[in-house]
Amino acid sequence: MKTAAITIDVEDWFQSITMRPHYPIETWSDKDLTLIEPLTYVLDTLAEFQISATFFVLGWFAEYHPRILHMILDRGHEIASHGMTHKPNNLLDDEALQYEILQSKLSIEKVIGRQVLGYRAASFSISARVLEVVRESGYKYDSSLHRARGNSLYGDVTSGEVSEMIINGLKVFEIPTGKVFGLTIPFSGGTYFRMLPFRMLKHMARHAQRRPLILYFHPCDFDPRWLRMSVLPMRLRVRGGLGASANKRRFREFIRWLKHQGYSFKRMKELI
Ligand SMILES: [Zn+2]
Repeated sequence: MKTAAITIDVEDWFQSITMRPHYPIETWSDKDLTLIEPLTYVLDTLAEFQISATFFVLGWFAEYHPRILHMILDRGHEIASHGMTHKPNNLLDDEALQYEILQSKLSIEKVIGRQVLGYRAASFSISARVLEVVRESGYKYDSSLHRARGNSLYGDVTSGEVSEMIINGLKVFEIPTGKVFGLTIPFSGGTYFRMLPFRMLKHMARHAQRRPLILYFHPCDFDPRWLRMSVLPMRLRVRGGLGASANKRRFREFIRWLKHQGYSFKRMKELI
């Protein structure tokens, strides 16, 4: 049986790492959330296709906007942790790392009243040191391993030829990648999913060596208002906005195609 997992990293545009210099954490609680509308779109679409997914939520939402967590939980999805405040782990000392990884788990659990099993690092900033803290904090799995090259934030753990590893009792899932012109592309989410030709997405999914097929999205991937964020550098405005409105259609088309290919959709916790 072919298995896919739809995962959503729940963060608003002003919480992205690019925005950090413009919007320090202290300013976040004063900002209006823009993620409700695209998040609702994702939840409605998943319901339409009868898919249960996994939402990696910032612990910050548990503290300031717990209703977001309930919106997700009420629809039968898994809630996991995306850290507390979306800082790349490689920049953090031990104490800050503990705060991001353990405190986010505790804050989310307090709101949802059940155990948080999974963790995904901001910008996939995973390393052996981070994985050890993830394990010590009581998580059962990590979904931060990302083999794509060319981004210094991506981690330094390699997984050989397998897509799932057990490291000291912690299950580690790898984000699938594909090859284009010799480049390793994380086609299954974010900017690449939005911008690659659809036939190339299908080709990469067919030939992905990593299983299960983990797809990853953000609410803002489905929100063309990104394009109007004048605070963004032009390069990112183009990258952020390009295809965001068409991406809603693409999301549905891709799900429909995967179903046609015989994929079943699972929450990450069902894959441990
Ligand atoms: Zn993120």
